[in-house]
Amino acid sequence: MDRMTMQERFDHLVWRVEEARIKRSEHHIVKIVAVSKYTDEKNIRLLYDLGQRAFAESKVQSLRERVEKLEDLPIEWHYIGRLQKNKINHLIRANPFLMQSLDSVELAQAMQKRLLEHGVRMECLMQINSSKEENKAGVVPERAIETYFEIKESCPNIRLRGVMTIGAYVEDESVIRKSFETTYSIFEKLKEDGANICSMGMSRDFELAIECGSNMIRIGSLLFE
Ligand SMILES: *Cc1c(COP(=O)(O)O)cnc(C)c1O
Repeated sequence: MDRMTMQERFDHLVWRVEEARIKRSEHHIVKIVAVSKYTDEKNIRLLYDLGQRAFAESKVQSLRERVEKLEDLPIEWHYIGRLQKNKINHLIRANPFLMQSLDSVELAQAMQKRLLEHGVRMECLMQINSSKEENKAGVVPERAIETYFEIKESCPNIRLRGVMTIGAYVEDESVIRKSFETTYSIFEKLKEDGANICSMGMSRDFELAIECGSNMIRIGSLLFE
């Protein structure tokens, strides 16, 4: 992609986010995480050069490669994919700024064990399956609060900062809205416990997510495809 095209796409996104957040509240701040899984390192550098600092990958292997190849840049890396237990050590070595896809107590406890061995901690979000679509990862909403505290109590090397969800994959806006509202209401309860990140909204639905209270959006195709 040339610089001009990237600049236009980025500016356009920033303005749309700006409009959506002001609609919610003047004081509502939304962080954009650029999902780079569709693109190459050249475009990541281009977007970084335009001011973007947070990037995300959904495969541990890609994350590791990119952390290494782009280590000259102070990028804040996020991990947003499903994590297999045999990849935990690789993820720990990549040392992401935020792991957003912690989707079960079992995974949390497997991570805890490895984190302890490495003597490190990891900042994480608990993923909620707010649309209850079968192919989606995450804790079901009904069990979200208790699971969050179970992870907190049994995994001292995991620092839970809030929740992440993927909106329902349907046309009907009211159904998508419902999945965001469900997640936000869980986040609100966890706020009392110090949770401060509610990551929801992707290219197709970020404005709706912001309207429902999201303060972190994950944007891939709108920037890179
Ligand atoms: C790919 C991906 C995104 C970005 O999706 P776009 O629709 O391309 O913006 C966001 N979140 C997760 C978990 C993803 O896997």
